[in-house]
Amino acid sequence: MGFGVGMSIYHVSYDGNMWVEVETPSVLETERMSEALMSPENKDIRFFRKKVLEWFSENERNFPWRETDEPFHVLIAEIMLQQTFADKVVPVYEEFIGRYPNPEKAARGNLKKMEDIIFPLGLIYRARVLRVISGKLVRDFNGEVPMEEAELLSLPGVGQYIASAVRSIAFDKWAPVVDANVARIVTRLFSKRGSSAGGEVRKKEIWALVERLAPSGSTRAYNLGLLDFGALVCRHYNPACNGCVLDKVCRYVAVTGS
Ligand code: SF4
Repeated sequence: MGFGVGMSIYHVSYDGNMWVEVETPSVLETERMSEALMSPENKDIRFFRKKVLEWFSENERNFPWRETDEPFHVLIAEIMLQQTFADKVVPVYEEFIGRYPNPEKAARGNLKKMEDIIFPLGLIYRARVLRVISGKLVRDFNGEVPMEEAELLSLPGVGQYIASAVRSIAFDKWAPVVDANVARIVTRLFSKRGSSAGGEVRKKEIWALVERLAPSGSTRAYNLGLLDFGALVCRHYNPACNGCVLDKVCRYVAVTGS
């Protein structure tokens, strides 16, 4: 699935866990994307962390799933948020959690009713996924969402992104996440020539860089801060570079003059 913007074509790609927007490169972009990400100096890493966390403390978006650390609710939210705008998820999440507050109730839930609740979000197969996950939690994990990465990854429909999101948000563990927003931010900041795309070829590099940039200990605020920063400031189109708290270390600004 693709659409054109200026000289580049964008498409949506499913990486086995989540949908990401990636750029089908023009000749110029291909040249940019073939260049490695920079290895930031420690002082730039410290600056980046500080600015992201400060920005987040003043600009965090409010969502009901951020007001809880109940792991089952966080897991439900993360599955609903896949490929879906957060604002659209709010009423659906609240109805689902109100009716199925724990794995036991969700595992016994009527599938048709669950599909009706999920329907406004599209991709209603997620109702079945939620029911199957709930059944496995009851059967194999004593009705609790596990904390360990390998156990989370054993749940149907749970890949690396959701596992890390649940570990960092619900259990306050060190577990950086990479989605299209995060990939775009670090690629813009630290590409040698300021590429604005996070292509598949860079996936491992991006993961390594995001992990290096992450503070030690909890990554909850760091993860949520990057997600919000990507949604509100370093947007896919028209990033708000003027006044951006990271413009001093941003290669995208240095290269494009934005
Ligand atoms: S200066 Fe622009 S491109 Fe760089 S991080 Fe900020 S918003 Fe993104």
